[in-house]
Amino acid sequence: MVMGELTMEVDVAVIGGGPGGYVAAIRAADLGFNVVLIEEKKRLGGVCLLEGCIPSKTLIHAVELADEATHAKKIGLNFSGFEFDIDALRKWTEKVVNGLSHGIDYLLEKRGVEVVTGHAKFTDNTHLQVDGAGISIEFKNAIIATGSKINVLPDAVDLPLWTSAEALTIPYVPERLLIIGGGYIGMEIGFVYAGLGSKITLVEPKAHLLCHADEDMVDVVMKSCKKKFEKVMVESKVGHIKQSSGGFTVEIIHKDTTENVEFEQVLMAVGRHPYSDDLGLENTKIEVDQYHRIPNNEECRTVEPNIFAIGDCAPGPMLAHKATREGKIAAEVIANHPSAMDNRAIPAVVFTHPEMSWVGLSENEAQKKGVKYAIGKFPLNALGRARSIGKTDGFVKILSDPDNDDLILGVGIVGEQASELISEATLAIEMGATLEDILSTVHPHPTMSESLMEAAEVAAGVPIHVLPKSKK
Ligand code: FAD
Repeated sequence: MVMGELTMEVDVAVIGGGPGGYVAAIRAADLGFNVVLIEEKKRLGGVCLLEGCIPSKTLIHAVELADEATHAKKIGLNFSGFEFDIDALRKWTEKVVNGLSHGIDYLLEKRGVEVVTGHAKFTDNTHLQVDGAGISIEFKNAIIATGSKINVLPDAVDLPLWTSAEALTIPYVPERLLIIGGGYIGMEIGFVYAGLGSKITLVEPKAHLLCHADEDMVDVVMKSCKKKFEKVMVESKVGHIKQSSGGFTVEIIHKDTTENVEFEQVLMAVGRHPYSDDLGLENTKIEVDQYHRIPNNEECRTVEPNIFAIGDCAPGPMLAHKATREGKIAAEVIANHPSAMDNRAIPAVVFTHPEMSWVGLSENEAQKKGVKYAIGKFPLNALGRARSIGKTDGFVKILSDPDNDDLILGVGIVGEQASELISEATLAIEMGATLEDILSTVHPHPTMSESLMEAAEVAAGVPIHVLPKSKK
C-alpha cells in the first residue's frame, strides 16, 4: 500500500464495468455481498455499450430504415428527398449510449455497489491498488472483467486510421472507405458506411468472409454485400499503407497482383485481444495463456481460488451475452450456489443485411468432425410473413441427430430477424429438444418464427410448404 492511500475492505471487487463486470457486481450485491466495481473509463458499460454492440446496432437500424424507405416504392409507398442529418444521427447514438450508461449507474447505486474510477492492479491475491483514485482495496473475492482491446496492424500504428471505436462516432462520411477484415465488425461497419453513402472496398485474407459461419449462409449475405459494397476482395491482403493528399495510398495484394489504391479513410477491423496486461497478475499465481486470456474453469475460477475471470479476457467467444452469463455465474459461485458455465450452446449473431445467426453445431463443424447429422432447410421465400414484408432472402436450417431421437444439434439462420429467431433455437438446444418438439409446437401465423417449425418439418420429412424429397 502507498502511504496516504485510503483502504477499503470488501467481499467482492469487480474490475471492469462492461456487460460482464457490471452484471457480476449487481448479482453479487443482490446476493448480499459488499461490492466495489472499479472502472478506468469515466462511463460504465464497457466496449459493448460505449463503442461496440449498442452504437453499431443503433447506426445499423438507421441505415436499414433508409434502405426500407428507398425500396418502399415496390410496395406502393414513395418517399423522396430524404437524407441523413449526420449530426442528428451522431447525437441520437450518443443519447442511446448515455441513457443506457446512466441506467447502469442507477442500478448499481440502488444496489449499494460502490463505483471507483481508476486503473486496478493486483498487489497480491487479496489486494488491489487503484491508480488514479488513491485507493487500496482488500478483497475476499475478485472478479476480473477487463474485456478486450482492438488489434492494430503493426505497420499502421502511427497512421491516423480508424478503429471500430472511431468509426462508430462517425467523424465524417468518407467518399471511399477501405475496410481491412471481413469478420463481423468489418462487415457491420461496412453496411453502416455503405448506407451513409461511402464507396466500400473490403479486403479479407481468407477465402470467405465471416469465416466462422457456414458458406451457404455467407453466400446470401455476399449477394447483398456485392450490391452495397463497391468491391469485396477475398484471398487478398493489405501491404504498405502511406498517407497521401487525399487520405491514404494502400497496397492491395491479390494472389500474384499488387495494386496501389487511394482511399479517403481506412478502417482496421482485424480482431481484438484480451485485455490482461498491466493488471499486476505477476503478483498472483495467475498466468495468461498464449492468446493473453486468463484461464478459468467452469465456475469461472482462476488458479487463485478467490479470483475469477469472465468475459472477453477469459477463454471462449468474445461476445457480450457470454460475458454477462459468466458474470452471474462468478457471483453465484462466490455465494456457494451450484452455478457453472455448463451451457450447451452460445448463439452468435451478425447484424448484416440480411442478418445471420447460428447456435450449436454448424454444418462446417459437423463435416470437419465427421459428426453424423440430418438436415432440414426451409427457404424464406416459401414463408407467408417473409413474402408479406418483402424479405424473402435467406433460409433456416436445422441439424439433428438421426441416431438420437432427432435431437437438435444446431441451427443456422440467414434472413430477416435472424437475430431474434435464434433464441428459440438456443432454448431448444439448451433443453435438449428434438425435431418433434419444434414441429409440434404451435407457432403464431403469420410470423418469421414459423420458419423454424417449417425447417423442423423438412428435417423430419413432413414438410407442408415445400415439397418432400419424394415429390420433387
Ligand atoms: P468490456 O465490455 O470490454 O469491458 C471491460 C471494461 O474493463 C472496460 O470498460 C475497460 O475500460 C475496463 N478495464 C479494463 N482493465 C481495467 C483495469 N485494470 N482497471 C479498471 N478498469 C479496467 N458482442 C455481442 O455479443 N453482440 C454484438 O452485437 C457485438 N457487437 C460489437 C461491435 C463492435 C464494434 C465491437 C468492438 C464489439 C462488439 N461485441 C458484440 C463484443 C462485445 O462488445 C464484447 O464481447 C463485450 O463488451 C465484452 O464484455 P466484457 O465485460 O468482457 O468487457
